[in-house]
Amino acid sequence: MIEFDNVSKVYPNGVKALTDVSVQIEQGEFVAIIGLSGSGKSTFIRCINRMHDIQSGTLKVNNINISQLKGKEIRQFRRNIGMIFQSFNLVKRISVIRNVLAAFVPDLPAWRKFLGIFPAEQKMIALEALDNVHILDKAYTRVDQLSGGQQQRVALARALAQNPQIILADEPVASLDPVTSKQVMDDFKRINEENNISILINIHDVELALAYCDRVIGINKGRIVYDGKSADITQEILDSIYRSDQAGSEKRAENE
Ligand code: ADP
Repeated sequence: MIEFDNVSKVYPNGVKALTDVSVQIEQGEFVAIIGLSGSGKSTFIRCINRMHDIQSGTLKVNNINISQLKGKEIRQFRRNIGMIFQSFNLVKRISVIRNVLAAFVPDLPAWRKFLGIFPAEQKMIALEALDNVHILDKAYTRVDQLSGGQQQRVALARALAQNPQIILADEPVASLDPVTSKQVMDDFKRINEENNISILINIHDVELALAYCDRVIGINKGRIVYDGKSADITQEILDSIYRSDQAGSEKRAENE
């Protein structure tokens, strides 16, 4: 379970990215995080694997107060969490399988990861992960010869090879076309259902969020303004999630 209790995050430049965030996410949920650009979605999910530290409140993952983890403990903790990015974060000039195998050596410097020799058991796990996302036939192809959708699947396979309890995906379909986006969302949905992995996705496409995710968390200026079922979302709720300062002041002006 992921538990935010009154969490606030302030960046060193003084930007308050999250304010008094309290929310619980149970194991196996598939959650979309939506909101305007700059509202704090990325900060929200990056705090969960300690890519960013919080300033106040408590953030627990499986009952561990993650702010108290140090050095090696943080690295061990992160093995439980697969991370997917908009830009795929793959090494493009090497093969697909080498990229997936990198999941086993997160602590090694990059040059060692890609020179490394991996045991047969790890290769099997990597191949199974590629099979799971239907790109086993590309295992020995160089990543730069794949389409964007295929590359995102490699990233997903790499996350799966870690055998994670949680996958955090930061705008995973933002650079894909609509058809490919749906295919990648289908993969997330299937993986969530089959493996009971909790998946949190930052996504700017509301239609996709509502179509695929059971639960939606709406963030506006660092605060959670909606947390509930996708099915219960109304236009009014969407307006409150996507209200910018300007729209807010226009509304206030109308009422005056
Ligand atoms: P979103 O993912 O919704 O676009 P972010 O979490 O990236 O929002 O950003 C929330 C706020 O924090 C924004 O005002 C952004 O400019 C600021 N921010 C994000 N990352 C940093 C950083 N590393 N340093 C300073 N400010 C940041």
